[in-house]
Parts: sequence; C-alpha cells; structure tokens
Amino acid sequence: MRFKRALREVRTDRHQADEEAIVRLLSAKGPRVHDLFRTAFEERLQHRGERVMLTSTVHVTNECKVRPRCAFCGFAAGASPEGYDRPFTRSYEEVAEAAQAIEEAGIPRVSCSGAYRGDGGRLAVMAARAVKENTDLLVLINFGHDLSRETVRELRELGVETVCCNLETINRELFERLKPGDDLDARIRVCELVCEHGIGLSSGLLVGIGESREDRARHLRFLARFETLMEIPIMGFNPYRGTPMEDHPRCPLLEQARVMAVARLMYPDLMITAPTPTIGPEEVQVALMAGADNLATVIPDNHPHEVKGVGSPRTGNLDRVIELIEDAGLKPVLSVEEGREACLTCLERRASLSMQHSS
Ligand code: SF4
Repeated sequence: MRFKRALREVRTDRHQADEEAIVRLLSAKGPRVHDLFRTAFEERLQHRGERVMLTSTVHVTNECKVRPRCAFCGFAAGASPEGYDRPFTRSYEEVAEAAQAIEEAGIPRVSCSGAYRGDGGRLAVMAARAVKENTDLLVLINFGHDLSRETVRELRELGVETVCCNLETINRELFERLKPGDDLDARIRVCELVCEHGIGLSSGLLVGIGESREDRARHLRFLARFETLMEIPIMGFNPYRGTPMEDHPRCPLLEQARVMAVARLMYPDLMITAPTPTIGPEEVQVALMAGADNLATVIPDNHPHEVKGVGSPRTGNLDRVIELIEDAGLKPVLSVEEGREACLTCLERRASLSMQHSS
C-alpha cells in the first residue's frame, strides 16, 4: 500500500483503519516520517490545542510480589543496580507531602504508581486519598492489575480522574515470555472494570521489546474496545543493567515517536503520553512534534523523594521540560485549573459515561 493512501485511510477511519494501513504508517521512512509527524501534529493542534499537560510522579511502593520478575523490570526493589536499591512503601503523610510539593511547583497532575502487592488495591486507595484530601491535583493511579471491583469503586468515589493499567503488548506469546509472573487477561479485566466504573482509562504500549509492527497495529486497534479510554502512554524499551534484558537493544527514538504519531491519528482527541524516562528527558521535543500532548514523570526541584523513572532511571526536570516545551512553540499547563480545562473533553466524556453507568 502506498504511504499517502495509508495516511488518508487512517485519518478517515481512525481506530477502525485496516491493519495494513496502520502498519504502513508505522514503517514510514525518510521524508514519509516528516509527512507522518506533520499530519499528527496538525491533528493534535486541531483536537488538543497547543497545551502540553505535565504529569509528575509519586512512587508509592517498589515492593513487587510478581515472580518471576518481568524480564525488563528495573523498577522493583533489587531488580537492577541502576534502579531503587532499597524496598519502600510510602505512608499517607509521605504521599500527601510529595503531592503538595508537586502542586506548589505548578504541575497539575500526579501519577501515584506502585508495584503488584496482591492487596487488591488497598495501597492505591490510600495514595488516592492522600492526594485528594490534601491537594486539588488531577490524579492517575497506576498499580497495574492489583485492583478489585471494590477498590476501583472507592477510587471513583474519591474522584480519581484516571486509572492506568498498561498491557505493554497484546502479543500473548511475547507477554508470557517476558512477563511470566504477570497475567495479560487480569490486566484486560482491570481495564474493563475501570470502564465499567466510568473512570478514565490510561493504557499503553511498551515499544521495542521484540513485538512486530503488526503487533503494535493490532494493539492500537484493540484499545478501541475500552469505552472510557482517555490516555495512551507510548513507552520505549530501555535496558536496565542487571536484568534479563540488559543486552536487548534500546528502542530507537524514531520507532517510539512513530507509534505516538499513529496513535494520535487513530485517537485524535485522546491524551497521548510520552514518559520522560523512556523517550529521554532531552528528547521530549521529538515526542511533541509527533503529536504527544502529555509529558509524564516530570519532577520539580522541591519533590521530597528521589524518583527513578520506570523503564529508565532518568526523569524530566520540571524547569528543563518547560524550556523544551516553550522552545518547541507550545504551552506547558502550569496550574490545576488549566489542567482541568485541558482535560475537559476527556473528563466530560468520562462523566457522561459515568452517569450512564450509575443510572
Ligand atoms: S514490571 Fe511491574 S509487575 Fe513486573 S516485576 Fe516490575 S514492578 Fe513488578
């Protein structure tokens, strides 16, 4: 299929576009990459404007009970000498203190992330409560599939805007090989549970772990089944020293950015997220040019914790990220009010779904 036809098809049919057309765009080379990014950027301006959402992070726990560990994991305690050296689980007060620092720095949104503890999400609820009772921040909760119907309901009652459960890849053979202690079906069930409760869903891809472009195309189409999907994080693989995948090559920047651009074309009104650790804190402009409109793991100088990124120990410093956004001619969102406004489309869409669910 010719590139121009594929571009036209994906722009018209969006997430229902043929797999062949999506793969053609994911394989763009040379000047076609420029055409792909320009189109994705135009879509982003049209549907999401010039604003760039900023999302900071509180790592609530790194004590993961998944065994064997995921082959790429550098986040869980003791998984890699480049990651966290000691296990920790933050208290309510510690989460609240970090959230307040993030709000004071002007960042509108925080991701409270944890590892699989097998407690059905009790710690996730504590973290959400700590943020919601002490700040006005928009909140994303990411504890993978460690959530139950009861805790998802509690998160909704607390007003949590987004729950993230990344599938990483829907290539089942690959998932089971790299994540032998994890459970793809359980992750899909949590995504469905989040939708059932009318909470915004974030669910993303980990690019460069050995999946094919066809796998990526299928995955992007698969996400359309989640009716409250509001955010797609596009992560790129970086090897963490000391892990089973330490010799696997890093995901090339362009490969990761192509997936962002195609995700933008398929889901023009959703938040497309570039995590600063995996895109690279100095490379965020490439993600923005490819249509991303949210930069995650942005850490302000006043953050009370040492934060090591998931996927790579690097993180984006708030001041530097602002410089890079402005240098790209875009506008960082620097208050909760502006953040809510930027999220309005997604929040309204979610609210109407939530009303449908509760009626
Ligand atoms: S990637 Fe997540 S689920 Fe897998 S071992 Fe690491 S912390 Fe646990």
